[in-house]
Amino acid sequence: MEAFVYTALPVRVIFGAGTLTRTGEELATLGCGRALVLSTPEQEEAAHALKERLGSTCVAVFTQAAMHTPVEVTARALERLKVAGADCLVALGGGSAIGLAKALALRTGLPQIAIPTTYAGSEATPILGQTDSGVKTTQRTPDVLPEVIIYDVDLTLTLPPLLSATSGMNAIAHAVEALYARDANPVISLLAEQGITALARALPRIVSNPGDIDARSDALFGAWACGTCLGAVGMSVHHKLCHTLGGSFDLPHAPTHAVLLPHAVAYNAGHAPDAMVRIARALSSDSAAHGLYRLARSLGVPAGLKELGMPEAGLDDAVRLAVAAPYWNPRPIEAAGIRRLLDNAFHGRSPA
Ligand code: NAD
Repeated sequence: MEAFVYTALPVRVIFGAGTLTRTGEELATLGCGRALVLSTPEQEEAAHALKERLGSTCVAVFTQAAMHTPVEVTARALERLKVAGADCLVALGGGSAIGLAKALALRTGLPQIAIPTTYAGSEATPILGQTDSGVKTTQRTPDVLPEVIIYDVDLTLTLPPLLSATSGMNAIAHAVEALYARDANPVISLLAEQGITALARALPRIVSNPGDIDARSDALFGAWACGTCLGAVGMSVHHKLCHTLGGSFDLPHAPTHAVLLPHAVAYNAGHAPDAMVRIARALSSDSAAHGLYRLARSLGVPAGLKELGMPEAGLDDAVRLAVAAPYWNPRPIEAAGIRRLLDNAFHGRSPA
C-alpha cells in the first residue's frame, strides 16, 4: 500500500425510502426550530408540502433556486431568511436548491439539511459554485458542507428518465476522476468503484422503468458514493472542461457531463492505467472510455455537444480557455489533444 492522506468529512447521512419523515427529528437534533425550506420553482409544491409536514418548525419557503447559484437569487433568499428569522436551511431538490443553501450557509453560518432529489452529489461536498454577472467561480470550504443529508429514495421516483440518465452520468464523472486524482486514496477509490458499479447497473433499469424502487435505491446510493468522491479529492480535465463549456457557452450542466465523459477518459487512458482497469471493471466492460460511451448511448443521452447547443465555431475558443489556466491532470493538457477530444465530443463520435 502506498502512502496516502485521507480527510473524512463530518456529515450525517440518513438513507432509505420514506426518510423525509425524519426531517423534523433531525432539525431538533441540530437544535433548530425555525427552518427556511429552499427549492427550484419546479419543486415548489414539494417544498410547500415539506413546510406543512414541519409545522411550526418551518418559518418560510423560498422557491426561486436556479442553476449555477446566481448571487442575485442568493441576495433575495438572504432577505427572506432575515425577515423570517430562520435558524437553519433545508434544501429540497437537486444541485440548484442545495447550491443556494450552501451560498446562504456561507453568508450566515447557519446549519443545513440537504434532501437531494437528483444524482448530482453537491450535498456531499464542501464545494460551492456561484455566478456573478455571468462569471462562475468555485470555492472549497468546510463552511458550506451540509451537516445532514436525508436521502429519501421515494423523492427520486419523479425524476424523469432522461434527467436521471444525465444526472447519473454526472455522478459517475465524479468517481471516474477521483480514481485518477493526484490526491487519490484507497478509501475514496473503493467508494468510486462502488459508485460507478451501482449507477451503471441502475440507470438502464431506471430509463426503462422510472418507478423501479430497487434501481432508484441503487442509483441514489451511487450518487452519494460519487458525491463523496467529488468532495474528497481534486478533479481533472473532465470537470474543468465541463466548467468551461457551461460557463462560456451556457451548456446544460448534467448533459454536458454525460456527453464529454467518455472523451475525457479516452484522453487520459494511457496515463492512468490502474484507474482505467477499475472503471472498466465497474462498467463490466473491456474498455473504460468505450464502456462509458456505450452506457450513455444506451440511456438515450444526446450523443454530441452540438445537440446541446454548442456552436462549432466556439470549439477553438474552448480549447484556448482549457489550455489557458493550467491545472493538474494525469496527462498534460495540450491543445491538439484537447481539440481532438472536443471535436469527437462535438460530433458524438466514438471516443478515441
Ligand atoms: P437542478 O437542481 O437544477 O435540477 C434540474 C431540474 O430537475 C430542476 O428543474 C429541478 O427542479 C428538477 N428536479 C430535481 N429533482 C427532481 C425530481 N426528483 N423530480 C422531478 N424534477 C426534479 O440540477 P442538478 O443537475 O441536480 O444540479 C446542477 C447544479 O448543481 C449546477 O448548478 C451545478 O454546478 C451544481 N453542482 C454542484 C456541485 C458541488 O459540489 N458544488 C456538484 C454537482 C452539481
